[in-house]
Amino acid sequence: MEILDSFRTDKFPHIWCSGCGHGIVMGALVRAMNKLDLDHDKTVIVSGIGCSSRATGYLNFDTLHTTHGRALAFATGIKFSEPELDVIVITGDGDCTAIGGNHLIHAARRNINITTIMFNNSIYGMTSGQYSPLTPQKAKATTAPYGNIEPNFDPCELVQGAGATYVARGTAYHIKKLTRFIKRGIEHNGFSFIDAVSQCPTNFGRKNGFKSAVEMMQWQKENTITIERAAKASEKEVKNKILVGELHHNNRPEYTANYEQVIEKAQKGGDN
Ligand code: SF4
Repeated sequence: MEILDSFRTDKFPHIWCSGCGHGIVMGALVRAMNKLDLDHDKTVIVSGIGCSSRATGYLNFDTLHTTHGRALAFATGIKFSEPELDVIVITGDGDCTAIGGNHLIHAARRNINITTIMFNNSIYGMTSGQYSPLTPQKAKATTAPYGNIEPNFDPCELVQGAGATYVARGTAYHIKKLTRFIKRGIEHNGFSFIDAVSQCPTNFGRKNGFKSAVEMMQWQKENTITIERAAKASEKEVKNKILVGELHHNNRPEYTANYEQVIEKAQKGGDN
């Protein structure tokens, strides 16, 4: 299938600012879906609200642009009613870990077969740069002009702790790796979460001393370390670096399949 078949080209030009990382992450998703030759009529892509969530408008699949933080709730309903569909969620760091945080925890806990790609630019970009739960401490934001005092946290550790069975992190800079992780997440039978570190030059970069999107991507290159390298590196080399790679992968029963079995058993056993 031609890559352009995956886009609603009549919706271009897109609304993202020049240098925004979200187009790069969306490109990784499209390449991953293309490699898997996903059926456009059997793939549903669901997004919440924010710059990242505009991606569903450009993708030539069945898509839903839902309410803030609720993409996973809508996606759960879709997957539960039609388990044979491939269901993919696009969300931002604010959408996913603030208002949508509870949906994230419980989708991971259930191990429902949904692939979640979090476009992580560490800021609420669309609404002009308020800090999100993933904005680093001391970074500046519209709502933290003197620096953010709140500690951020690792969303990959959160979902792993909650029960996600495939967890990976890539960046807009490491595009081949990111494409591979998204592909593996879609192939995985269970809840998969991919933290896609992206850049917002307009509302994060300008407030935090980055002169350009290129500088932000250079930062991604210099401040990440692959898990393979980290395993051999000293504590000092790993300190303050963002881990990139497949962080967690295991198998346990998937939610909709489990539910199907319970129903079958109940039907065979009568009314119990
Ligand atoms: S505000 Fe930031 S995240 Fe939103 S489109 Fe512009 S650069 Fe991208």
